Amino acid sequence: MTIYNLGSINADHFYAVPHLPGAGETLAAMTLATGLGGKGANQSVAAARAGADVVHIGAVGPDGGWAVDRLAQYGVGTERIARIGTPTGHAIICVDPAGENQIILYPGANCALTSDQLTVLDAAGPGDWLMLQNETNLQQEAAERARANGVKTAYSGAPFDVAAVQAMLPHTDLLLLNAVEARQLAQALGLVVGDLPVSQIVVTKGADGAEWHGTGSGETVSIPACPVVPVDTTGAGDTFAGYMVAGLSQGLVPEAALRLASAAAAIKVTRAGTADAIPARDEVDTFLA
Ligand code: ATP
Repeated sequence: MTIYNLGSINADHFYAVPHLPGAGETLAAMTLATGLGGKGANQSVAAARAGADVVHIGAVGPDGGWAVDRLAQYGVGTERIARIGTPTGHAIICVDPAGENQIILYPGANCALTSDQLTVLDAAGPGDWLMLQNETNLQQEAAERARANGVKTAYSGAPFDVAAVQAMLPHTDLLLLNAVEARQLAQALGLVVGDLPVSQIVVTKGADGAEWHGTGSGETVSIPACPVVPVDTTGAGDTFAGYMVAGLSQGLVPEAALRLASAAAAIKVTRAGTADAIPARDEVDTFLA
């Protein structure tokens, strides 16, 4: 079984600043750390580290070879990542001493994907999954193409945009949202979360845990978060999403997949960084044992 992931690949630049910059202000950063990021890349790394066979569909610019190499080092299939003329996506993340942040996101190559990159989905079939988020173009086309072959789609509606998420609902089998996003979407549609029109929904609630809703069966599974001392929650949701879909693709029932994802995300929040801070499966299994 393969997990295809149409997703963003970013260079995340973290600047430690004495305070978040104001309008017109020039501010010297105290430190700079650069790492692999982007919701897509994070989710691919998480699914691969969970032991899934992952094919990432995306694009980088001439400055992005290192990011592709990093994905490959984590076991992600990179042959469907195009090298194009548009610069690689990046995020400029200012973090103040209280941990508050301010982010500028440049999508770059992530939104210059072309339909010919989706031909790989024509060879996919039942048992395979397609993961999607809101940081690329072509999500609907990819979902339609995958589902025509019996592939299930897992869509993270983040960065959250009501119209974009609403447009993706008819193409989604598993919807992944955090609690704030789920509330906003349900309010916009005049529904309760468990009645959103997709067959499965996962809502992550930070330190309050996570829940799964099977909308057809009316079944709900809730689990608490694993107790840890958080250092950096960036990428927790992506770690959860990658591990959750990997677990389901490996045949775990929703509750077991939730527990696996929750443990992986808990380990991630004890470490600074995004993709590079996502734990490997044996570490997660040991944590759960
Ligand atoms: P982010 O945008 O930071 O990646 P998110 O808003 O998408 O996160 P959250 O709901 O904050 O997602 O977190 C995802 C999961 O990570 C939670 O369901 C939980 O399992 C785990 N998690 C997050 N924060 C904590 C915490 N403080 N302690 C333990 N687990 C946590």
